[in-house]
Amino acid sequence: MTTGREFTIFGAGLAGPLMAVFLARAGHRVRLIERRADPRRAGAERGRSINLALSTRGIDALRRVGLADGVLAGAIPMPGRMIHAKDGSLSFQRYSKDGTQAINSVSRSGLNCMMLDAAEREPGVEIVFGRRCVSVDFDRRRAVLVGGAGEREEVAFQHAIGADGAFSGVRASMQLRDRFDYQQSYLSHGYKELTIPAGEGGAFRMEKHALHIWPRGSYMMIALPNPDGSFTCTLFWPFEGPYSFAALKKAEDVLWFFRVEFPDAVPLIPDLVRDFQENPTASLVTVRCSPWHVGDGAVLIGDAAHAIVPFYGQGMNASFEDCVRLSEALARHPASVERAFEEFGRLRTPDTDAIARLAQDNFIEMRDKAARASFRAGKHAQHALERWLPGLYLSLYEMVSFTTIPYAQALRRAQRQRAVVLTALIAAALLLATMLLSLL
Ligand SMILES: Cc1cc2nc3c(=O)[nH]c(=O)nc-3n(C[C@H](O)[C@H](O)[C@H](O)COP(=O)(O)OP(=O)(O)OC[C@H]3O[C@@H](n4cnc5c(N)ncnc54)[C@H](O)[C@@H]3O)c2cc1C
Repeated sequence: MTTGREFTIFGAGLAGPLMAVFLARAGHRVRLIERRADPRRAGAERGRSINLALSTRGIDALRRVGLADGVLAGAIPMPGRMIHAKDGSLSFQRYSKDGTQAINSVSRSGLNCMMLDAAEREPGVEIVFGRRCVSVDFDRRRAVLVGGAGEREEVAFQHAIGADGAFSGVRASMQLRDRFDYQQSYLSHGYKELTIPAGEGGAFRMEKHALHIWPRGSYMMIALPNPDGSFTCTLFWPFEGPYSFAALKKAEDVLWFFRVEFPDAVPLIPDLVRDFQENPTASLVTVRCSPWHVGDGAVLIGDAAHAIVPFYGQGMNASFEDCVRLSEALARHPASVERAFEEFGRLRTPDTDAIARLAQDNFIEMRDKAARASFRAGKHAQHALERWLPGLYLSLYEMVSFTTIPYAQALRRAQRQRAVVLTALIAAALLLATMLLSLL
């Protein structure tokens, strides 16, 4: 039986505590070890996105352990995108055919605290804060931890789970082993967060129920609503080049750039120059690696296994889905954790590879195509097909954001649908041409 085992999870960000809940419910003992201080006492750490879009996959994972309703109670549904043109005009693009489906803006720190509370409520879960995993000896099943004052300690584990994010310490130790494949690639764009504060009495100064996008071709700014009436804007911009984080630093240059590119946002961001100059510029990385496990000693989940760029809003959703898939694999193989770890990685990698690719492609859709009339027409056509062919045709966005169809399957189905639609269009055009010719 796998019940009654001990799992040590490194990283108590988003996936770690959820995985702890799944394992505890299956009867295992869990120790969560987190680098940071307890965010419920120390406050949120700066440097990551303040809010995130939670969609069906993440909600499904939370629902399985009874956490979805609590999380959604504090979320703001966003049923579509609000596109901000340079002249200040707005256009709303629904995400689903009838506008009933929405992605949800949630606070990263609020969610993290809720997940930690949920993990702590489970009997058999212990959380240790302020300890960074610096190396793992998989053969001896020992990990070296470093505390805030530099103190080192060695801890023993039975099975380890690396949920320690894109720059995982557990994965770094796996990289030292033979035949571990690893690939990381940075985008040439970075991101910086800016704040649109709430209006009087906590009023939202833009449409509350929308993900706002200022698409500008090779870069863009987006904004997600927060429950206090503010919006968190994220500027995705090149690190280098004539218009870039490296080139524009002086207050007058920053103001000039924003007035030209995002004129309607400028009056809404009172601390624009200060935010721009003081807030960190962060990078965006895609990580692929294989295998995700070392025997029955350790396995990776979440960003540690497959960090992706944020343009499909799926990194956290995929990480939550990992917790479901790993729990299912452990339940399928009660006698062998190694088989469960191996099967989890083998079955899950095609899906995370697919969403990594889709996320990169979606940057071009958001920053460039979303502003074009042809793109809007294409979306209308997709929604019309969804209405005419219910259950038969589903847009890729719908499958990724509003179903739990495995990502790789969703991608293949979208490619097939596209081929069928193109063939049907060509056939219809040929038929029309033949009919017209026969009339001559
Ligand atoms: C700008 C931006 C916007 C995003 N927007 C979205 C979105 O809208 N929707 C979405 O689904 N996803 C989004 N994501 C992705 C999402 O943030 C990640 O996919 C998600 O946080 C992954 O969860 P995780 O638990 O694997 O990693 P993390 O949330 O990064 O948690 C890792 C934890 O491990 C800890 N840790 C790190 N190293 C160690 C160590 N050596 N020892 C112990 N602990 C350690 C960290 O302190 C952290 O608490 C976005 C990402 C970015 C950068």
